[in-house]
Amino acid sequence: MMQVLPIQSCATTQDSAVSGKLIVLTGPSGVGKGTLMRSLLQRHPELYYSVSATTRRPRPGEIEGKNYYFISRSKFEQLASQGEFLESAEFAGNYYGTPREAVLRQVQSGHLVVLEIELKGARQIRASFPEALSIFILPPSFAELERRIRGRGQDSEEAIARRLQRAHEEIEAANEFDIQIVNDDFETALNAIEAAVFGK
Ligand code: ADP
Ligand code: 5GP
Repeated sequence: MMQVLPIQSCATTQDSAVSGKLIVLTGPSGVGKGTLMRSLLQRHPELYYSVSATTRRPRPGEIEGKNYYFISRSKFEQLASQGEFLESAEFAGNYYGTPREAVLRQVQSGHLVVLEIELKGARQIRASFPEALSIFILPPSFAELERRIRGRGQDSEEAIARRLQRAHEEIEAANEFDIQIVNDDFETALNAIEAAVFGK
């Protein structure tokens, strides 16, 4: 059983209530970030979710422009070399990146902008936007994380192994971020994110 951290808050929690802010949600693959994000957006349609670009193939049901912009590796490399990404990283054999212009435009016009990204990208955002609110989502245990990745049923054995290997490294970095939230009971975790984002 991995060590489970309690929910913590920090000085930036109140600042996050100020409009025009970048919020970073990170944590290992399969921990529930996407599911939490979808529920958060349903409750708060005023949040702007940044749709990332990726070279990963779409999973069944994923929609171009809604879940991701699905692009080729050569296109990704071209955009990256033109500085079009606010952050980018390779994860489990694919590239992922946050479109720079759309995010900056939304923040500058006063919106709360949410990024759901992996560790390396989250570190890049922390370095370039120290005022961003960063939230790390933890699983209740490593065994449960594996169950969730397998339960999702959308990754090959090889991809699952890569994601689990990476998860160990990611979880060790949890304390680098402003707030840690354990996604055990879904509603509790969602409420904790909401409180952090809106300072409730
Ligand atoms: P991520 O975006 O972090 O890779 P997902 O949102 O795809 O993770 O979630 C992985 C799986 O875990 C999904 O099948 C999801 O329904 C499930 N899940 C998410 N949160 C919980 C929770 N609190 N308890 C049990 N299962 C969960
Ligand atoms: P998935 O392939 O499961 O959709 O995503 C794999 C990982 O990539 C997840 O941890 C997800 O949060 C992360 N991710 C998605 N978009 C981006 C992005 O734009 N940048 C970075 N750095 N990671 C991303």
